[in-house]
Amino acid sequence: MEPAEALSQAVMDVLKEFSRKKLPLNCAGLKEIFAASEEILSLLAPDVQANTKGHQAPDDCGEPGDNLSRAPVGPKELDLEQLPPLREVFLDILDGLAPAIKGNDESRFSLLLEGVYECQSLQVLGSLGKQVGAMVGELINQAVENTDYSNDFLFELSKDLYQIGEQLSTYQEFNKENVNISNNFYTDILSHTNDIHNAIGHTRNKSDIHGMIIAKLIIISKSIDEKRKSDELRAIEAEAKISELQNNIKLYEKELLQVRKRSESLEKEVLLDELTKISNRRSYDLHIKECLREYKRTTKGIALILIDIDHFKKINDTYGHKAGDKCLKEIAQRIKSSLRQSDFLARYGGEELIAILHGCDFQSAENIAEKIRRRIENTRFYYHNETIPITVSLGVTAIMPSDTEPEAPFIRVDEAMYQAKRGGRNRVCSSTDPLVLSLCNGGPRSADEEPVLSVQPLRAQPSA
Ligand code: GH3
Ligand code: MG
Ligand code: MG
Repeated sequence: MEPAEALSQAVMDVLKEFSRKKLPLNCAGLKEIFAASEEILSLLAPDVQANTKGHQAPDDCGEPGDNLSRAPVGPKELDLEQLPPLREVFLDILDGLAPAIKGNDESRFSLLLEGVYECQSLQVLGSLGKQVGAMVGELINQAVENTDYSNDFLFELSKDLYQIGEQLSTYQEFNKENVNISNNFYTDILSHTNDIHNAIGHTRNKSDIHGMIIAKLIIISKSIDEKRKSDELRAIEAEAKISELQNNIKLYEKELLQVRKRSESLEKEVLLDELTKISNRRSYDLHIKECLREYKRTTKGIALILIDIDHFKKINDTYGHKAGDKCLKEIAQRIKSSLRQSDFLARYGGEELIAILHGCDFQSAENIAEKIRRRIENTRFYYHNETIPITVSLGVTAIMPSDTEPEAPFIRVDEAMYQAKRGGRNRVCSSTDPLVLSLCNGGPRSADEEPVLSVQPLRAQPSA
């Protein structure tokens, strides 16, 4: 394998891992990925340096996109044929990163992408490579920060919860004390009234009885007075304790709400493709597992359609990466609106989308795939007053009782899609096609069997 090809493969593997583990991540996994990407970048660096050794260094490109198309092209550069494969490696890295780019990073990312895309010199490419590497590192750090942020929140919450628990138990103690005080008070009163009762029974002398009753009544009224005062103080204390407890509970609820909102938005981000705003590969992986379980329970038809844009590389090459992105978004939206609300659509990878149709048999799935094919073929995609002709190739399969692992239906639908490519593109092929069946039974396609790319001339399309 060519070094560039090997690198490309390694980088894609790492990025797939990165995008799969992206956000709700565990730090250990991320560090692993980071280590791997550093390894790859260190592998890349010597290549680029070696290929540019001995040349007058052109001006450093500074910010990505800074007149990169006009960066000095070293006519004497050795091994200039290394440029396209290396550029592909960087473009593949950037494709892999695209779903994780948000907010302020978006413009920096597109400049970098344009820079790599238009770069004509190995030295400039080397410098852009460093920026790509830095971006990978930053994204990983951001993801780790997100995890740390949630962890901090959870730590604070657990502290609050502990405090509330403590307060509740002191409050319970306090109540117990109150009950004891009241019990003692009533026992005292009872003993004084008993004394009076006994004295009346045993003492004949009226003035003694009178004196004793007066004395006891004074004691009783003093006790009542003290009890009232102590009750008042304790009531104030209790009120303070209760309001402290209530405040803490309110605070706790507020923090809990914040965490819930945060984790909900993280959850959504994790399952959404940033560019097309449809579900991402991670979401597909979860959904297909659920589909297999559902199929086992109900045996209701579930169909899969894999959609790959034809000659998308050529669209990027001809109209630019930004135009490519725009087309990808538009295509995703059109396919989404061709499906039912209950169906599922995800971006499986670069320019490949996958649909899962619930309660749908093979025949209906083929009809829907054909409808999508026609719709894309008949759509005019405008970019800067130019019409970009676009077609898609589609593979169709349905979940079968023998599908115990998610890979099984995917292998079939992928084979069917590739058969559509081999058959000339802009067509639908299903996994019942005898050729697809034989390829599926004979295991995964070998590299030699990859479809031969026959680049069709771009032509004007009829309007929708
Ligand atoms: P085929 O008909 O055989 O599918 O040809 P293709 O050119 O579409 O297929 P290939 O796999 O050779 O190239 C896919 C291209 O899709 C290369 C890559 O740069 C592009 N791509 C992948 N993801 C994105 C993206 O997010 N935006 C843009 N603009 N291009 C992308
Ligand atoms: Mg394609
Ligand atoms: Mg593809």
